[in-house]
Amino acid sequence: NDVILDIRHLKKYYPVYKGVFKKVTGHVKAVDDVSLYVRRGETLGLVGESGCGKTTLGKCIVRLQSPTSGEMRFRYGEGGMRDILSLNAKEGFDVRKKIQIVFQDPYSSLNPVKTIYEAFDEPLRVHRMGSRAQRKEIIAQMLEVVNLRSDYMYRYPHEFSGGQRQRISIARALCIKPELIVCDEPVSALDVSIQAQVLNLMKDLQQQMNLSYVFIAHDLSVVEYMSDRIAVMYLGQVVELATSTSLYRTPRHPYTEALLSAVPTPELDAVRERIVLKGDVPSPINPPSGCRFHPRCSKCQEICRVEMPQLRKVSGTEDHYVACHLADTESVPQEARMEL
Ligand code: SF4
Repeated sequence: NDVILDIRHLKKYYPVYKGVFKKVTGHVKAVDDVSLYVRRGETLGLVGESGCGKTTLGKCIVRLQSPTSGEMRFRYGEGGMRDILSLNAKEGFDVRKKIQIVFQDPYSSLNPVKTIYEAFDEPLRVHRMGSRAQRKEIIAQMLEVVNLRSDYMYRYPHEFSGGQRQRISIARALCIKPELIVCDEPVSALDVSIQAQVLNLMKDLQQQMNLSYVFIAHDLSVVEYMSDRIAVMYLGQVVELATSTSLYRTPRHPYTEALLSAVPTPELDAVRERIVLKGDVPSPINPPSGCRFHPRCSKCQEICRVEMPQLRKVSGTEDHYVACHLADTESVPQEARMEL
């Protein structure tokens, strides 16, 4: 079994307070019952509009946020899959080393008053990775791995361009030898001309080090380029999950169809008709009943307003799942199939 991360029924709700006594009046359902897995060496893309929960899910994976409920198992050490939401402090510390994050903004993710050496040395020291000389050697190696000169370690972040800073952020995440990296919009703050360099570097590193990525982005072309499988999120839930090729060739969910209709296709004979979604994304505090997409869906039926569709395998496909009452799907829900 090559699954490295297995997420079941994960929820992250934020309380909404009102008044001086901070009475809880509701919850923002940022992530609401998400079940996904990531294989070793693969990239799972997460896409969706702002506020769909993709960044919150990423932060739950690296434990920057504690989920409200659900299970998250990670394969590390000799013991196989371990529930990482109920580890003791020592085990939690070990797992943090294996799951790293690269943030969107290379301008603010590096401390401006610390040299690159100081920024790298801190996590290496915390995780007791060698003597001072050995740590320095690791830093030099990692800078070279991301195509930067090793003597750059004595410079400050402001001395680098945006693309160089993002490569530095990637090198810092890599230096403690993670197995899974959550990449939260890693190129969206960069010039388009630089984006391809950073994406290609990330692909090369993935192959060299057998890394797994959870790749979060709103740019669908970037996600398609990077991902083996893609999960489309809407209002805290996964509405479609498929291999990159299957999702882009034959999207099954009306929301995915609308998102993809805005992406230019290189083949001139395959121009997609632009689908403009009506209305705005509803509030995640009181999401719509039934299918959360129904107020914006042009195909909405009566059942859509009352019954929430489950993520089910599309009939006749290998690895394509959709949560839509109108799709031709098999009866077993996706999380049950994850057991198979
Ligand atoms: Fe549209 Fe109904 Fe499918 Fe939801 S379940 S996406 S409302 S057709």
